[in-house]
Amino acid sequence: QAKASGRNTLRRFDPVMQATVNRRVRTEAEVRRALEHMEFEPYYQPQVDLTGRLAGAEALVRWQHPHRGIVPPMEFIPLAEETGLIFGLGHFMLERVCRQVAAWTSVAGHPQWCVAVNVSARQFHHPDFVQEVFSLIDETGAGAHQLQLELTESSLLVDMDDTISKMKALKSRGVSFSLDDFGTGYSSLYYLKHLPLDQIKIDQRFVRGVLDDANDAAIVRAIIALARSLGLNVIAEGVEDRRVQSFLANEGCPMFQGYLYSRPVPRDEFERFFLNGELLNGSGSGG
Ligand code: C2E
Ligand code: MG
Ligand code: MG
Ligand code: MG
Repeated sequence: QAKASGRNTLRRFDPVMQATVNRRVRTEAEVRRALEHMEFEPYYQPQVDLTGRLAGAEALVRWQHPHRGIVPPMEFIPLAEETGLIFGLGHFMLERVCRQVAAWTSVAGHPQWCVAVNVSARQFHHPDFVQEVFSLIDETGAGAHQLQLELTESSLLVDMDDTISKMKALKSRGVSFSLDDFGTGYSSLYYLKHLPLDQIKIDQRFVRGVLDDANDAAIVRAIIALARSLGLNVIAEGVEDRRVQSFLANEGCPMFQGYLYSRPVPRDEFERFFLNGELLNGSGSGG
């Protein structure tokens, strides 16, 4: 239709484009409002070791929308990143997780595992990010060793020197780092060489295919071997199938996350696993 209107498209708004713009403006206003009304909440997805025991958790933001129900992060995180709302949202998530970690610690003592929080590029490269995390740790009483930050390659591409100095500062207090979605970027190996990482997370796009796709299997096998020889922990995400876990375990992968064990669940549901020290045996746990 735009084509049919020929040169007019230069002067007139394309209605489809206009609708997209309207929707974005609306969503931006909604995210802003949702932040004020605290409609966001971390869900927690357990990470397990070879015996099925809880070995960590990833906090994943959920938007409890008053009319639309639960809105998944991919519908608002990219917009929050573009508009700068990610600073407020990211702070909110870090604070909520730090408070939660402190609360769990006061009940159960310092756990051997940490809670991972996803950090966006803009958030990480904000000049005050390190101080922000330190302040939150101090204010909430969360143990820095219980906090892990997940970065993706897109956060690292921006400014390598800034990345390294921030990671070092945070690590000096005990905060650890995981490289998310490993294998999907352009220069993964370069990052492995230069960054003070603790863990890499094998992207679920590779994990899912290990039984059917010889290339995925070879890539996953190589990533596990690489991580181990570099002295990094490695975790596979998106494990949905017991046979996938067996494959990964055989290759030496010690940690797993995925629907096989549990979906991301609200705090109270997660506490039933954690505080009861319950074994997650891969029978699934709703959510
Ligand atoms: P991610 O960090 O790679 O998180 C893993 C995603 O895979 C989560 O989706 C999780 O629910 C999903 N997942 C876990 N296990 C399985 C499985 O076995 N099968 C399948 N099909 N999916 C599985 P979710 O929660 O929708 O989050 C999507 C992405 O949004 C995250 O990817 C992360 O990049 C971003 N995100 C989530 N929470 C935050 C946040 O608080 N801050 C920022 N900056 N980004 C966030
Ligand atoms: Mg993640
Ligand atoms: Mg990931
Ligand atoms: Mg991702």
